[in-house]
Amino acid sequence: MTIDWQRLRIEGVYKQNEDGQLMLRTKVPAGVLSAEQAIKVADIADRFSNASVHLTTRGSIEFHWLQLGDLPEVLRLLAAVGLTSRGACGGAVRGVSCSTTFSEGFAFAQVLARKIHRHFAGNPHFEDLAKKFKVGVDAGYARSRHLIQDVGLVFLGTGDEGRDLYDVWLAGGLGREPQQAFLYAERITEAQIIPLIEAVLRLYRRHAPKGKRLKFVVREMGETTFRRLLEAERARGPAELELADAVEKRLTALPHGPRTIVEAAIFAGQLSTGALRGLAGIAERFADGYMALTADQNVAFLLCDSSGESEAKGALGACGFAGGAPEERVNFRICPGAHECRMGLAPTRDIARQALSIMGEGKMDLTWAIAGCPNSCAQPQLAEIGIVAVKKAPGADGVRRPLFDLYRRRSEGFGEKIAEQLDLEELLRAIQELE
Ligand code: SF4
Repeated sequence: MTIDWQRLRIEGVYKQNEDGQLMLRTKVPAGVLSAEQAIKVADIADRFSNASVHLTTRGSIEFHWLQLGDLPEVLRLLAAVGLTSRGACGGAVRGVSCSTTFSEGFAFAQVLARKIHRHFAGNPHFEDLAKKFKVGVDAGYARSRHLIQDVGLVFLGTGDEGRDLYDVWLAGGLGREPQQAFLYAERITEAQIIPLIEAVLRLYRRHAPKGKRLKFVVREMGETTFRRLLEAERARGPAELELADAVEKRLTALPHGPRTIVEAAIFAGQLSTGALRGLAGIAERFADGYMALTADQNVAFLLCDSSGESEAKGALGACGFAGGAPEERVNFRICPGAHECRMGLAPTRDIARQALSIMGEGKMDLTWAIAGCPNSCAQPQLAEIGIVAVKKAPGADGVRRPLFDLYRRRSEGFGEKIAEQLDLEELLRAIQELE
């Protein structure tokens, strides 16, 4: 049977290796997962994968080592708990990510993220795009993740007329040609957001060559022309579509007032099914049955009752997340790299462990990221120290080994490249010498 790998992508599937094993990515809108969903995910990984899952930097979940014949059953089981992988890969509106700095407004942002997900996931008007299309909703500007979205929405608060207000950033992205998003509009209302995203998508579909993202379209035509075309496109549709709710909708702790957050640091986002079931139990006991998959590949619980904090931390320790080991202490985003990704040039988890062992106490408080290829899934340009495997080249012994670029971020924008094409030894030395 000939398999159309390109077509499979729309179902959230990538070929993992030449042996026909697959990766399936599941969207988790806003990264908010219920305990029931977590248990179903663990059951699927036990049955069809390698008894573990990978948490991505966009709050999605990846299963690795799947077989093609198992996909229909895996998709059926995911659907039973309201999860879909439709559009999680390929040219589609990808999983809608949500700020997990848990600043004021997180509860509003995650509700909007779910509305956007419902509107665009599996909607044929917005599939078969030239390339991926990423939407992110953030509750504030901390961590700057609005800069890397095709559409980045930043929640500002509720205006005088009781309408929620957002800044809109467009055409950002990482990959081989990183591009910071530009501020398109300030203080637009929630009701304007879906018509605006639709207009951007129509424009993107019309102007993007195959394989190119929105950032390419804007770069080619220039921001001024793009703005003019977008205004004309918006005028063709409704200016507003009210998204108001009849009752308050929230899946995590209350939007206002003090919140207590307890977090399990998951090294490289690699979570065993046993640990995931343990975390589901903690969600049920302490967090109203929900957990949040964070942009740093961790699992957070927004406690309903702050008096349960020390007990919740004890329960996390019993699950193996006591927080003392360097792998847990250092905020280190790590993509699957050559361990599990066909694009991977370097074994990212191994290199991260080597970096942890030599970085020294002073650098443990910085944010770190390593990506196994220039696609930059670990968002290295947004970490204080970012590492990207850029190519493989033969060493003196003729063996091809990965070379790395090193980034340092000290301001609001992307990190600056401070060294390039280092071999592993040079990379580790450069890390030790970093100020
Ligand atoms: S950065 Fe490259 S190696 Fe890492 S997960 Fe993305 S595509 Fe794979």
